[in-house]
Amino acid sequence: MALIQMKGVTKKYHRSTTALRDMTLSVNQGEFVYLVGPSGAGKSSLIRLLYGEERPTTGSLTVGEFDVTALKNKQVPLLRRSVGVVFQDYKLLPKKTVFENVAYAMEVIGERRSIIKKRVPEVLELVGLKHKMRSFPDQLSGGEQQRVAIARAIVNNPKLLIADEPTGNLDPEISWEIMQLLERINLQGTTVLMATHNSQIVNTLRHRVVAIEDGRIVRDEEEGDYGYND
Ligand code: ADP
Repeated sequence: MALIQMKGVTKKYHRSTTALRDMTLSVNQGEFVYLVGPSGAGKSSLIRLLYGEERPTTGSLTVGEFDVTALKNKQVPLLRRSVGVVFQDYKLLPKKTVFENVAYAMEVIGERRSIIKKRVPEVLELVGLKHKMRSFPDQLSGGEQQRVAIARAIVNNPKLLIADEPTGNLDPEISWEIMQLLERINLQGTTVLMATHNSQIVNTLRHRVVAIEDGRIVRDEEEGDYGYND
Protein backbone atom coordinates (compact mmCIF):
# COMPACT_ATOMS: atom_id res chain seq x y z
CA MET A 1 0.00 0.00 0.00
CA ALA A 2 1.34 3.41 -0.98
CA LEU A 3 1.61 6.06 1.72
CA ILE A 4 0.43 8.78 -0.66
CA GLN A 5 -2.13 7.71 -3.25
CA MET A 6 -3.37 10.50 -5.47
CA LYS A 7 -5.66 9.78 -8.43
CA GLY A 8 -6.98 12.31 -10.89
CA VAL A 9 -6.73 15.18 -8.43
CA THR A 10 -7.72 18.64 -9.55
CA LYS A 11 -7.43 21.65 -7.27
CA LYS A 12 -9.24 24.84 -8.14
CA TYR A 13 -9.26 28.00 -6.05
CA HIS A 14 -12.47 30.02 -6.02
CA ARG A 15 -13.59 28.12 -9.14
CA SER A 16 -11.15 30.11 -11.29
CA THR A 17 -7.43 29.36 -10.84
CA THR A 18 -6.64 25.71 -11.47
CA ALA A 19 -3.51 24.85 -9.45
CA LEU A 20 -3.49 21.06 -10.05
CA ARG A 21 -4.89 19.28 -13.10
CA ASP A 22 -5.86 15.62 -13.09
CA MET A 23 -2.81 14.69 -11.04
CA THR A 24 -1.96 11.06 -10.32
CA LEU A 25 0.92 10.24 -8.00
CA SER A 26 1.86 7.38 -5.74
CA VAL A 27 4.59 7.50 -3.07
CA ASN A 28 5.59 4.49 -0.99
CA GLN A 29 6.57 4.42 2.66
CA GLY A 30 10.28 5.17 3.03
CA GLU A 31 10.77 7.05 -0.26
CA PHE A 32 12.57 10.39 -0.59
CA VAL A 33 10.95 12.54 -3.27
CA TYR A 34 11.99 15.96 -4.58
CA LEU A 35 9.18 18.11 -5.94
CA VAL A 36 10.55 20.56 -8.51
CA GLY A 37 9.11 23.02 -11.00
CA PRO A 38 8.83 26.74 -11.66
CA SER A 39 7.05 29.16 -9.33
CA GLY A 40 3.31 28.88 -9.67
CA ALA A 41 3.52 25.29 -10.94
CA GLY A 42 1.42 23.94 -8.06
CA LYS A 43 4.01 22.56 -5.60
CA SER A 44 2.63 24.35 -2.56
CA SER A 45 -0.92 23.48 -3.54
CA LEU A 46 0.00 19.80 -3.67
CA ILE A 47 1.70 20.07 -0.30
CA ARG A 48 -1.30 21.82 1.28
CA LEU A 49 -3.52 18.93 0.18
CA LEU A 50 -1.18 16.41 1.78
CA TYR A 51 -1.35 17.96 5.23
CA GLY A 52 -5.04 18.72 5.14
CA GLU A 53 -4.78 22.49 4.75
CA GLU A 54 -6.85 22.32 1.54
CA ARG A 55 -9.14 19.70 -0.03
CA PRO A 56 -9.02 18.40 -3.60
CA THR A 57 -11.73 19.82 -5.85
CA THR A 58 -12.07 16.47 -7.63
CA GLY A 59 -10.25 13.14 -7.58
CA SER A 60 -9.15 10.89 -4.74
CA LEU A 61 -6.33 11.31 -2.24
CA THR A 62 -5.26 9.13 0.65
CA VAL A 63 -2.33 9.73 3.01
CA GLY A 64 -1.74 6.69 5.18
CA GLU A 65 -5.13 5.61 6.45
CA PHE A 66 -6.68 9.04 5.83
CA ASP A 67 -9.02 9.81 2.99
CA VAL A 68 -8.09 13.46 2.58
CA THR A 69 -10.96 14.11 0.16
CA ALA A 70 -13.48 13.39 2.91
CA LEU A 71 -11.47 14.80 5.81
CA LYS A 72 -13.50 16.95 8.21
CA ASN A 73 -11.73 19.95 9.71
CA LYS A 74 -11.90 18.37 13.15
CA GLN A 75 -10.01 15.33 11.83
CA VAL A 76 -7.09 17.45 10.59
CA PRO A 77 -5.16 17.17 13.91
CA LEU A 78 -5.35 13.38 13.53
CA LEU A 79 -3.82 13.58 10.06
CA ARG A 80 -1.11 15.89 11.43
CA ARG A 81 0.08 13.07 13.68
CA SER A 82 1.04 11.22 10.52
CA VAL A 83 2.33 14.22 8.58
CA GLY A 84 4.98 16.67 9.79
CA VAL A 85 5.67 19.86 7.83
CA VAL A 86 8.57 22.30 7.68
CA PHE A 87 8.62 25.57 5.76
CA GLN A 88 11.20 27.88 4.27
CA ASP A 89 10.56 30.48 6.99
CA TYR A 90 10.56 27.98 9.91
CA LYS A 91 7.29 29.31 11.43
CA LEU A 92 8.43 28.95 15.03
CA LEU A 93 6.45 30.64 17.80
CA PRO A 94 8.65 33.62 18.81
CA LYS A 95 7.48 33.84 22.43
CA LYS A 96 8.06 30.16 23.16
CA THR A 97 11.41 28.54 23.92
CA VAL A 98 12.87 25.82 21.72
CA PHE A 99 11.55 23.21 24.17
CA GLU A 100 8.08 24.80 24.18
CA ASN A 101 7.96 25.08 20.39
CA VAL A 102 8.57 21.36 20.01
CA ALA A 103 6.39 20.41 22.99
CA TYR A 104 3.52 22.37 21.46
CA ALA A 105 3.19 19.86 18.61
CA MET A 106 2.64 17.15 21.22
CA GLU A 107 0.29 19.24 23.36
CA VAL A 108 -2.09 19.91 20.46
CA ILE A 109 -2.61 16.20 19.99
CA GLY A 110 -3.22 15.75 23.72
CA GLU A 111 -0.03 13.92 24.61
CA ARG A 112 0.69 13.35 28.30
CA ARG A 113 3.07 15.75 30.09
CA SER A 114 5.37 12.94 31.20
CA ILE A 115 5.74 11.70 27.63
CA ILE A 116 6.36 15.24 26.35
CA LYS A 117 9.11 15.80 28.94
CA LYS A 118 10.86 12.64 27.84
CA ARG A 119 10.39 12.90 24.08
CA VAL A 120 11.24 16.59 23.44
CA PRO A 121 14.87 16.40 24.69
CA GLU A 122 15.26 13.16 22.73
CA VAL A 123 14.23 14.74 19.44
CA LEU A 124 16.26 17.90 20.14
CA GLU A 125 19.27 15.69 20.68
CA LEU A 126 18.61 14.06 17.30
CA VAL A 127 18.76 17.46 15.56
CA GLY A 128 21.80 18.52 17.62
CA LEU A 129 20.11 21.25 19.64
CA LYS A 130 19.48 19.80 23.09
CA HIS A 131 21.80 22.42 24.57
CA LYS A 132 19.57 25.22 23.16
CA MET A 133 16.37 23.91 24.73
CA ARG A 134 15.81 27.07 26.79
CA SER A 135 16.71 29.53 24.03
CA PHE A 136 14.15 31.55 22.09
CA PRO A 137 13.98 31.42 18.27
CA ASP A 138 15.51 34.90 17.83
CA GLN A 139 18.60 33.72 19.72
CA LEU A 140 19.24 31.04 17.09
CA SER A 141 20.77 31.12 13.60
CA GLY A 142 18.59 30.33 10.58
CA GLY A 143 20.01 26.83 10.36
CA GLU A 144 19.31 26.22 14.04
CA GLN A 145 15.76 27.51 13.69
CA GLN A 146 15.20 25.12 10.81
CA ARG A 147 16.49 22.26 12.98
CA VAL A 148 13.96 23.18 15.65
CA ALA A 149 11.23 23.24 13.01
CA ILE A 150 12.33 19.78 11.87
CA ALA A 151 12.34 18.53 15.46
CA ARG A 152 8.80 19.84 15.88
CA ALA A 153 7.74 18.19 12.61
CA ILE A 154 9.03 14.75 13.60
CA VAL A 155 8.36 14.76 17.34
CA ASN A 156 5.16 12.72 16.92
CA ASN A 157 6.93 10.16 14.70
CA PRO A 158 5.03 10.97 11.50
CA LYS A 159 5.05 8.59 8.55
CA LEU A 160 5.53 11.53 6.19
CA LEU A 161 7.75 14.58 6.53
CA ILE A 162 6.97 17.37 4.07
CA ALA A 163 9.53 20.09 3.56
CA ASP A 164 8.52 23.14 1.51
CA GLU A 165 11.80 24.74 0.35
CA PRO A 166 13.52 23.97 3.67
CA THR A 167 16.85 25.41 2.51
CA GLY A 168 15.37 28.45 0.74
CA ASN A 169 16.67 30.93 3.33
CA LEU A 170 19.94 29.20 4.20
CA ASP A 171 23.44 29.50 2.78
CA PRO A 172 24.93 26.49 0.99
CA GLU A 173 26.94 25.02 3.86
CA ILE A 174 24.02 25.16 6.29
CA SER A 175 21.71 23.81 3.58
CA TRP A 176 23.87 20.71 3.34
CA GLU A 177 23.66 20.20 7.09
CA ILE A 178 19.88 20.39 6.90
CA MET A 179 19.94 17.86 4.03
CA GLN A 180 22.05 15.47 6.09
CA LEU A 181 19.44 15.68 8.80
CA LEU A 182 16.56 15.03 6.38
CA GLU A 183 18.55 12.14 4.92
CA ARG A 184 19.03 10.63 8.36
CA ILE A 185 15.33 10.96 9.16
CA ASN A 186 14.52 9.26 5.84
CA LEU A 187 16.93 6.41 6.56
CA GLN A 188 15.06 5.80 9.80
CA GLY A 189 11.97 5.01 7.72
CA THR A 190 10.16 8.35 7.42
CA THR A 191 8.98 9.22 3.93
CA VAL A 192 10.31 12.64 2.88
CA LEU A 193 8.70 14.89 0.27
CA MET A 194 10.69 18.04 -0.36
CA ALA A 195 9.79 20.93 -2.66
CA THR A 196 12.94 22.72 -3.73
CA HIS A 197 14.58 25.08 -6.21
CA ASN A 198 18.04 23.97 -5.11
CA SER A 199 19.51 22.34 -8.22
CA GLN A 200 22.82 21.52 -6.55
CA ILE A 201 21.17 19.50 -3.85
CA VAL A 202 18.86 17.64 -6.25
CA ASN A 203 21.72 16.88 -8.63
CA THR A 204 24.10 15.73 -5.89
CA LEU A 205 21.98 13.93 -3.32
CA ARG A 206 20.07 11.80 -5.80
CA HIS A 207 16.48 10.76 -5.15
CA ARG A 208 13.24 10.43 -7.05
CA VAL A 209 12.34 13.68 -8.82
CA VAL A 210 8.76 14.67 -9.58
CA ALA A 211 8.57 17.76 -11.78
CA ILE A 212 5.38 19.83 -11.94
CA GLU A 213 4.51 22.44 -14.52
CA ASP A 214 1.22 24.24 -14.84
CA GLY A 215 -0.45 21.87 -12.40
CA ARG A 216 0.66 18.68 -14.14
CA ILE A 217 3.37 16.13 -13.51
CA VAL A 218 5.70 16.44 -16.49
CA ARG A 219 8.48 14.14 -15.25
CA ASP A 220 8.86 11.44 -12.61
CA GLU A 221 12.29 9.81 -12.41
CA GLU A 222 14.14 7.65 -9.93
CA GLU A 223 17.45 9.39 -9.13
CA GLY A 224 16.49 12.16 -11.53
CA ASP A 225 18.21 15.50 -11.93
CA TYR A 226 16.87 18.99 -11.30
CA GLY A 227 16.37 19.71 -14.98
CA TYR A 228 15.94 23.50 -14.90
CA ASN A 229 18.54 26.18 -15.48
CA ASP A 230 17.94 28.31 -12.41
P1 ADP B 1 4.20 26.77 -6.44
O1 ADP B 1 4.24 26.34 -5.02
O2 ADP B 1 4.75 25.74 -7.38
O3 ADP B 1 4.85 28.11 -6.64
P2 ADP B 1 1.36 27.24 -6.01
O4 ADP B 1 0.73 25.97 -5.60
O5 ADP B 1 1.68 28.25 -4.95
O6 ADP B 1 2.68 26.93 -6.88
O7 ADP B 1 0.44 27.96 -7.07
C1 ADP B 1 -0.23 27.29 -8.16
C2 ADP B 1 -1.28 28.22 -8.76
O8 ADP B 1 -2.36 28.37 -7.83
C3 ADP B 1 -0.77 29.62 -9.05
O9 ADP B 1 -1.43 30.06 -10.23
C4 ADP B 1 -1.20 30.41 -7.87
O10 ADP B 1 -1.39 31.75 -8.18
C5 ADP B 1 -2.51 29.74 -7.49
N1 ADP B 1 -2.79 29.79 -6.03
C6 ADP B 1 -2.01 29.26 -5.05
N2 ADP B 1 -2.58 29.43 -3.85
C7 ADP B 1 -3.75 30.09 -4.06
C8 ADP B 1 -4.80 30.56 -3.22
N3 ADP B 1 -4.77 30.36 -1.88
N4 ADP B 1 -5.83 31.20 -3.80
C9 ADP B 1 -5.89 31.38 -5.13
N5 ADP B 1 -4.93 30.95 -5.98
C10 ADP B 1 -3.88 30.32 -5.46
